[in-house]
Amino acid sequence: MNKLERSQAAFARACAVLPGGVNSAARAFGPVGGNPPMIARGAGSHLWDIDGNEYVDLVMSWGPLIRGHAHPDVIAASEEALRSGTSFGATTERETVMADLVCERMASVEMVRFTNSGTEATMSAIRVARGVTGRDVIVKFTGCWHGHADPFLVAAGSSALSLGQPDSPGVPAATASLTLTAPYNDIDAVRALFAERGREIAAVIVEPVAGNMGCIPPVAEFLEGLRAVCDEHESCLIFDEVITGFRVARGGAQERFGVRADMTTMGKTIGGGMPVGAFGGSRRYMENVAPLGMCVSQGGTLSGNPLAMAAGFATLESVDAGQYAELERIGARLADGLAPLNVQRVGSMMTVFFGDGAMRNIDDVAACDTDKFARWHRGMLERGVYLPPSQYEAFFVSLAHSDEDIDLVVAASREVCESL
Ligand code: PMP
Repeated sequence: MNKLERSQAAFARACAVLPGGVNSAARAFGPVGGNPPMIARGAGSHLWDIDGNEYVDLVMSWGPLIRGHAHPDVIAASEEALRSGTSFGATTERETVMADLVCERMASVEMVRFTNSGTEATMSAIRVARGVTGRDVIVKFTGCWHGHADPFLVAAGSSALSLGQPDSPGVPAATASLTLTAPYNDIDAVRALFAERGREIAAVIVEPVAGNMGCIPPVAEFLEGLRAVCDEHESCLIFDEVITGFRVARGGAQERFGVRADMTTMGKTIGGGMPVGAFGGSRRYMENVAPLGMCVSQGGTLSGNPLAMAAGFATLESVDAGQYAELERIGARLADGLAPLNVQRVGSMMTVFFGDGAMRNIDDVAACDTDKFARWHRGMLERGVYLPPSQYEAFFVSLAHSDEDIDLVVAASREVCESL
């Protein structure tokens, strides 16, 4: 069993100067109890904490590390960029190279702008949708998380849900009133919203596979239905592919499910572990991003910086169809091994739900046994498996995960489940 003495002391010091000891609420162990191990380093599919404990990592920085920690190609490309200067606040060829890669893989993306985070990408995308359509209202789905910009902190997922606090203090009621919500996977509810307020709706933003209330795939016809309703009402369909982009398929969820978005937001994998986000889409929208067309405002001192572009390109360049097939295989091996636990998986992202039946929306997930999840989580951590500390999160495998890693996780889970 792992010992965490140094981590405990270090976390206590962190709590004195960082709210909750963390720099992102989802990292806190509130939902599962105890304190997080203090991470010292990662390599491939493994992590080490400052007490020297080793873990098979299934968080993978919450998704970005599709090739694992500290991949030699990513290090080499980042080092090379680092030595040539980290930021110029001017256009570099690296940005065009990366934009070409994004446009080639994401079928609906004709132009792209890079940001520093997924949050910046989603908040900019809805500003563009509002600017171009001349409408103010957006539709999101209960339990979906699109980052921490005000318009999205209405019925949001992950950390907000785990804290039992779906709406954040500090978000003006006036802002929240422009965000309508519908249950995930419920196209009839969306049609009803459009029937009433279609002319005011600038955009529908959706995680094409939900990852922030655990992993929930779209039911048949859900994404197609959103496409149809947005076409009918001339609203912008935004796929938030911050998690799914370059992960559930080479061309993201839109390739996997064969539905075209008007705008797409990206993050995580696109930076391979560096702070990067992006939004892109058809020229109708992107040719109105400042300095073009209607000049919808957007900027960023470090946006598209050489280090992030280099790491992102090195991460994605070599991940071809064969590698996505391998991710699928590793994901399936883990999901199959965890049976009979209730696993929902799309490619290399998945969640174990401590509840029965298919999870289709946040109400289904809310009925799960979160105490049981917490006990499972603790038992897994003690046996060297690092999982997200909440039932409302997805976990991830990477190309660095070996069959031995998966077998270790499966054996740990079997052992823990005996005493749950
Ligand atoms: N959209 C989705 C679907 C996400 O999962 C996240 C982050 N978990 C974001 C947006 C926000 O990205 P970031 O944390 O980089 O701001």
